[in-house]
Amino acid sequence: MEGTGSRDGAERVRILIVEDEVELAAYVKRGLEREGFTVDVAGDGQLGLHMATTNSYEAVVLDIMLPKLNGYQVCAELRARSNWVPILMLTAKEGEYDEAEALDTGADDYLTKPFSFVVLVAHLRALIRRGVGARPAVLTVGELRLDPAKRTFEVDGELVSLTPTEMSIMELFMRRPGDVISKTEILESCWDWAYEGDVNIVEVYIRYLRKKIDIPFDRKHLETVRGAGYRLMAESD
Ligand code: CA
Repeated sequence: MEGTGSRDGAERVRILIVEDEVELAAYVKRGLEREGFTVDVAGDGQLGLHMATTNSYEAVVLDIMLPKLNGYQVCAELRARSNWVPILMLTAKEGEYDEAEALDTGADDYLTKPFSFVVLVAHLRALIRRGVGARPAVLTVGELRLDPAKRTFEVDGELVSLTPTEMSIMELFMRRPGDVISKTEILESCWDWAYEGDVNIVEVYIRYLRKKIDIPFDRKHLETVRGAGYRLMAESD
Protein backbone atom coordinates (compact mmCIF):
# COMPACT_ATOMS: atom_id res chain seq x y z
CA MET A 1 0.00 0.00 0.00
CA GLU A 2 1.27 3.46 -0.83
CA GLY A 3 1.02 6.60 1.20
CA THR A 4 0.13 5.06 4.51
CA GLY A 5 2.99 7.13 5.86
CA SER A 6 3.47 5.36 9.13
CA ARG A 7 6.44 6.79 10.97
CA ASP A 8 7.87 3.81 12.76
CA GLY A 9 6.96 0.95 10.48
CA ALA A 10 3.81 0.13 12.42
CA GLU A 11 1.40 -0.39 9.54
CA ARG A 12 -2.29 -0.80 10.01
CA VAL A 13 -1.91 -4.06 11.82
CA ARG A 14 -5.22 -5.36 13.05
CA ILE A 15 -5.47 -6.82 16.53
CA LEU A 16 -8.38 -8.42 18.37
CA ILE A 17 -8.62 -8.07 22.14
CA VAL A 18 -10.93 -10.54 23.87
CA GLU A 19 -11.33 -9.22 27.39
CA ASP A 20 -14.40 -8.73 29.57
CA GLU A 21 -12.84 -6.21 31.95
CA VAL A 22 -14.09 -3.10 30.19
CA GLU A 23 -11.54 -0.70 31.63
CA LEU A 24 -8.58 -2.94 30.94
CA ALA A 25 -9.78 -3.58 27.38
CA ALA A 26 -10.25 0.15 26.77
CA TYR A 27 -6.83 0.95 28.22
CA VAL A 28 -5.08 -1.64 26.05
CA LYS A 29 -7.07 -0.57 22.98
CA ARG A 30 -6.15 3.11 23.44
CA GLY A 31 -2.50 2.24 23.97
CA LEU A 32 -2.29 -0.05 20.96
CA GLU A 33 -4.03 2.51 18.76
CA ARG A 34 -1.42 5.05 19.79
CA GLU A 35 1.18 2.54 18.63
CA GLY A 36 -0.49 2.48 15.22
CA PHE A 37 -2.52 -0.70 15.54
CA THR A 38 -6.13 -1.06 14.53
CA VAL A 39 -7.93 -2.65 17.45
CA ASP A 40 -11.24 -4.48 17.84
CA VAL A 41 -12.56 -5.57 21.22
CA ALA A 42 -14.80 -8.51 22.08
CA GLY A 43 -16.24 -8.62 25.61
CA ASP A 44 -16.89 -12.35 25.82
CA GLY A 45 -15.51 -15.60 24.48
CA GLN A 46 -18.32 -16.36 22.08
CA LEU A 47 -18.10 -12.97 20.39
CA GLY A 48 -14.32 -13.23 20.37
CA LEU A 49 -14.45 -16.59 18.61
CA HIS A 50 -16.95 -15.22 16.11
CA MET A 51 -14.86 -12.13 15.35
CA ALA A 52 -11.61 -14.09 15.10
CA THR A 53 -13.14 -16.48 12.59
CA THR A 54 -14.96 -13.88 10.48
CA ASN A 55 -12.20 -11.24 10.32
CA SER A 56 -8.53 -11.42 9.60
CA TYR A 57 -6.28 -10.39 12.49
CA GLU A 58 -2.54 -10.26 12.81
CA ALA A 59 -2.80 -11.34 16.44
CA VAL A 60 -5.36 -12.01 19.17
CA VAL A 61 -4.93 -10.96 22.80
CA LEU A 62 -7.06 -13.44 24.69
CA ASP A 63 -8.04 -13.33 28.34
CA ILE A 64 -8.69 -16.69 30.02
CA MET A 65 -11.54 -15.91 32.39
CA LEU A 66 -14.30 -14.76 30.08
CA PRO A 67 -18.08 -15.06 30.02
CA LYS A 68 -19.73 -17.62 27.71
CA LEU A 69 -16.57 -19.32 26.47
CA ASN A 70 -13.31 -19.14 28.39
CA GLY A 71 -10.01 -18.33 26.73
CA TYR A 72 -8.90 -21.95 26.57
CA GLN A 73 -12.08 -22.92 24.79
CA VAL A 74 -11.76 -20.04 22.32
CA CYS A 75 -8.15 -20.95 21.62
CA ALA A 76 -8.81 -24.67 21.24
CA GLU A 77 -11.81 -23.98 19.01
CA LEU A 78 -9.82 -21.69 16.72
CA ARG A 79 -7.09 -24.29 16.36
CA ALA A 80 -9.65 -27.02 15.79
CA ARG A 81 -10.93 -24.92 12.89
CA SER A 82 -7.37 -24.67 11.55
CA ASN A 83 -7.14 -20.99 12.39
CA TRP A 84 -3.48 -20.32 13.23
CA VAL A 85 -3.71 -16.62 14.11
CA PRO A 86 -1.01 -15.84 16.69
CA ILE A 87 -2.59 -15.85 20.16
CA LEU A 88 -1.24 -14.07 23.21
CA MET A 89 -3.04 -15.32 26.31
CA LEU A 90 -3.50 -13.30 29.46
CA THR A 91 -3.25 -15.51 32.50
CA ALA A 92 -4.23 -14.66 36.05
CA LYS A 93 -1.53 -14.60 38.66
CA GLU A 94 -3.52 -16.59 41.19
CA GLY A 95 -2.52 -19.75 39.39
CA GLU A 96 -5.99 -21.22 39.11
CA TYR A 97 -5.25 -21.36 35.42
CA ASP A 98 -1.71 -21.88 34.36
CA GLU A 99 0.60 -20.92 31.58
CA ALA A 100 1.36 -24.48 30.58
CA GLU A 101 -2.30 -25.01 30.00
CA ALA A 102 -2.50 -21.85 27.89
CA LEU A 103 0.23 -23.17 25.64
CA ASP A 104 -1.39 -26.60 25.71
CA THR A 105 -4.54 -25.35 24.09
CA GLY A 106 -2.58 -23.80 21.25
CA ALA A 107 -1.69 -20.29 22.41
CA ASP A 108 1.62 -18.98 21.09
CA ASP A 109 2.60 -16.87 24.05
CA TYR A 110 1.23 -15.68 27.37
CA LEU A 111 1.47 -12.78 29.76
CA THR A 112 0.64 -12.90 33.44
CA LYS A 113 -1.66 -10.20 34.77
CA PRO A 114 -0.90 -7.55 35.79
CA PHE A 115 1.42 -6.75 32.91
CA SER A 116 2.99 -3.53 31.78
CA PHE A 117 1.85 -2.06 28.50
CA VAL A 118 5.43 -1.90 27.19
CA VAL A 119 5.84 -5.63 27.76
CA LEU A 120 2.52 -6.34 26.07
CA VAL A 121 3.56 -4.40 22.97
CA ALA A 122 6.94 -6.13 22.87
CA HIS A 123 5.30 -9.55 23.02
CA LEU A 124 2.76 -8.60 20.39
CA ARG A 125 5.36 -7.28 17.98
CA ALA A 126 7.43 -10.44 18.41
CA LEU A 127 4.36 -12.59 17.73
CA ILE A 128 3.40 -10.59 14.65
CA ARG A 129 6.95 -10.77 13.29
CA ARG A 130 6.86 -14.54 13.66
CA GLY A 131 3.52 -14.48 11.90
CA VAL A 132 1.14 -17.34 11.51
CA GLY A 133 3.08 -20.33 12.71
CA ALA A 134 3.59 -23.37 10.60
CA ARG A 135 1.28 -26.05 11.79
CA PRO A 136 3.23 -28.36 14.09
CA ALA A 137 3.87 -31.83 12.77
CA VAL A 138 1.55 -34.66 13.72
CA LEU A 139 3.20 -37.21 16.01
CA THR A 140 2.72 -40.88 15.28
CA VAL A 141 3.92 -43.77 17.41
CA GLY A 142 2.59 -47.16 16.35
CA GLU A 143 -1.19 -46.82 16.32
CA LEU A 144 -1.14 -43.63 18.41
CA ARG A 145 -1.55 -40.33 16.64
CA LEU A 146 -1.35 -36.90 18.27
CA ASP A 147 -1.98 -33.67 16.40
CA PRO A 148 -0.40 -30.90 18.51
CA ALA A 149 -2.09 -28.16 16.50
CA LYS A 150 -5.61 -29.51 16.57
CA ARG A 151 -5.10 -30.99 20.05
CA THR A 152 -6.54 -34.30 18.96
CA PHE A 153 -5.46 -37.76 19.96
CA GLU A 154 -6.30 -41.03 18.25
CA VAL A 155 -5.77 -44.67 19.07
CA ASP A 156 -5.98 -46.85 16.00
CA GLY A 157 -7.96 -44.20 14.14
CA GLU A 158 -10.40 -43.65 17.00
CA LEU A 159 -10.56 -40.19 18.59
CA VAL A 160 -9.91 -40.21 22.32
CA SER A 161 -10.67 -37.09 24.33
CA LEU A 162 -7.76 -36.03 26.56
CA THR A 163 -7.55 -33.14 29.02
CA PRO A 164 -4.82 -30.54 28.35
CA THR A 165 -2.54 -32.12 30.98
CA GLU A 166 -3.08 -35.64 29.63
CA MET A 167 -2.41 -34.29 26.15
CA SER A 168 0.89 -32.74 27.16
CA ILE A 169 1.98 -35.95 28.92
CA MET A 170 1.26 -37.93 25.76
CA GLU A 171 3.06 -35.34 23.67
CA LEU A 172 6.13 -35.72 25.88
CA PHE A 173 6.07 -39.54 25.52
CA MET A 174 5.41 -39.44 21.79
CA ARG A 175 8.34 -37.15 21.15
CA ARG A 176 10.56 -39.75 22.82
CA PRO A 177 9.08 -43.20 22.19
CA GLY A 178 10.90 -45.99 24.02
CA ASP A 179 12.66 -43.59 26.43
CA VAL A 180 12.18 -44.03 30.15
CA ILE A 181 10.87 -40.73 31.50
CA SER A 182 10.90 -40.09 35.24
CA LYS A 183 7.95 -38.81 37.22
CA THR A 184 9.92 -35.69 38.07
CA GLU A 185 10.59 -34.94 34.43
CA ILE A 186 6.95 -35.48 33.53
CA LEU A 187 5.93 -33.18 36.36
CA GLU A 188 8.37 -30.49 35.29
CA SER A 189 7.38 -30.70 31.64
CA CYS A 190 3.63 -30.96 31.97
CA TRP A 191 2.68 -28.99 35.07
CA ASP A 192 3.01 -25.30 35.85
CA TRP A 193 6.45 -24.53 37.29
CA ALA A 194 4.71 -23.13 40.36
CA TYR A 195 2.99 -26.45 41.08
CA GLU A 196 3.95 -27.48 44.59
CA GLY A 197 2.03 -30.69 44.98
CA ASP A 198 3.26 -34.24 45.24
CA VAL A 199 5.16 -35.83 42.35
CA ASN A 200 2.77 -38.77 42.72
CA ILE A 201 0.13 -36.75 40.89
CA VAL A 202 1.91 -38.14 37.83
CA GLU A 203 0.87 -41.69 38.82
CA VAL A 204 -2.72 -40.52 39.01
CA TYR A 205 -2.52 -39.12 35.50
CA ILE A 206 -0.83 -42.22 34.12
CA ARG A 207 -3.79 -44.14 35.54
CA TYR A 208 -6.23 -41.78 33.83
CA LEU A 209 -4.36 -42.22 30.58
CA ARG A 210 -4.32 -46.00 30.80
CA LYS A 211 -8.08 -45.93 31.34
CA LYS A 212 -8.42 -43.95 28.13
CA ILE A 213 -5.80 -45.30 25.77
CA ASP A 214 -4.91 -48.79 27.03
CA ILE A 215 -7.78 -50.51 28.79
CA PRO A 216 -10.52 -49.82 26.20
CA PHE A 217 -8.22 -51.00 23.41
CA ASP A 218 -6.75 -53.90 25.35
CA ARG A 219 -3.24 -52.52 24.90
CA LYS A 220 -0.30 -51.65 27.14
CA HIS A 221 1.26 -48.53 25.67
CA LEU A 222 2.37 -47.02 28.95
CA GLU A 223 4.82 -49.27 30.73
CA THR A 224 5.93 -48.73 34.32
CA VAL A 225 9.69 -49.05 34.72
CA ARG A 226 10.05 -49.74 38.41
CA GLY A 227 12.02 -47.08 40.26
CA ALA A 228 12.73 -45.17 37.07
CA GLY A 229 9.54 -43.89 35.54
CA TYR A 230 7.42 -44.74 32.52
CA ARG A 231 8.02 -45.66 28.93
CA LEU A 232 5.84 -45.47 25.86
CA MET A 233 5.97 -48.71 23.94
CA ALA A 234 5.86 -48.23 20.20
CA GLU A 235 4.29 -51.60 19.50
CA SER A 236 2.26 -53.63 21.90
CA ASP A 237 2.10 -57.35 21.63
CA1 CA B 1 -11.54 -11.68 32.44
